[in-house]
Amino acid sequence: MATQRPGFPARIFPAGNAPAAPARRPAAPVPPAAPAPTGAARDPIPARGRMVQQLAADGIQDAAVLRAMGAVERHRFVDGALVPQAYEDTALPIGLGQTISKPSVVARMVELLMQGGLRGEDGRLGRVLDIGTGCGYQAVVLGQLATEVYSIERLRDLHEKARANLRPLRIANVHLILGDGMAGFAKGAPYAGIIAAAGGELVPDAWIDQLAVGGRIVAPLASSGGQALVVVDKSRQGVSHTVLEAVNFVPLKSGVA
Ligand code: SAH
Repeated sequence: MATQRPGFPARIFPAGNAPAAPARRPAAPVPPAAPAPTGAARDPIPARGRMVQQLAADGIQDAAVLRAMGAVERHRFVDGALVPQAYEDTALPIGLGQTISKPSVVARMVELLMQGGLRGEDGRLGRVLDIGTGCGYQAVVLGQLATEVYSIERLRDLHEKARANLRPLRIANVHLILGDGMAGFAKGAPYAGIIAAAGGELVPDAWIDQLAVGGRIVAPLASSGGQALVVVDKSRQGVSHTVLEAVNFVPLKSGVA
């Protein structure tokens, strides 16, 4: 097994990609995670199943989002000492003062993207731009739901860490880029959806330019002294902004470091 944590059972995250659920499936009960083979005391799979049940209880309805949250092994994206907390609904440090977002926030943002992003007949999002790769967790969740994911990180060490995290997963449709996400990533444009894990004062023009007509941006933005989740929808008529609940993300910074 290509992991330094041999205590865990074989991963259930498929090497390929599970098909996305058809659009607008009614909220179905979340199937329980696969039973642990043996010695389940430290087995994180039941914990991941409980996390998904909690996400559903807290209002995440999209079955494909719940399935993706259940499939991606969050414990592989955090340092060994934090593995026991990997399925708690909490942000955790990933180094360089950055954090992996709370599962409930990832699920909420991804669900918003699924609701408003451009989707194919199979229900999958098209190409998605993920700003702020961090440890790569959200990029991999998105990889379950989109045809292609371009994930950009400005900090070289985190970009490398995400590379190392993704390597054993052998995911073909998630592309990691070192660069300043404030400029988007023009090579992958136009995007069916853009999602940011770092908050700025404004949505950069580049993101709106690189968003396809009919696409959606989900991002934290400065709002009355704090930060709020903002949804930007692009239509032929222009762009509309919707301000949602308060959130607490790391700042969006410019330049590569
Ligand atoms: N989605 C990540 C969350 C990482 S925290 C995960 O699943 O782990 C947000 C990340 O955004 C940080 O790693 C930070 O370095 C990065 N970031 C901030 N400004 C950025 C920018 N302009 N371009 C790219 N990444 C940026």
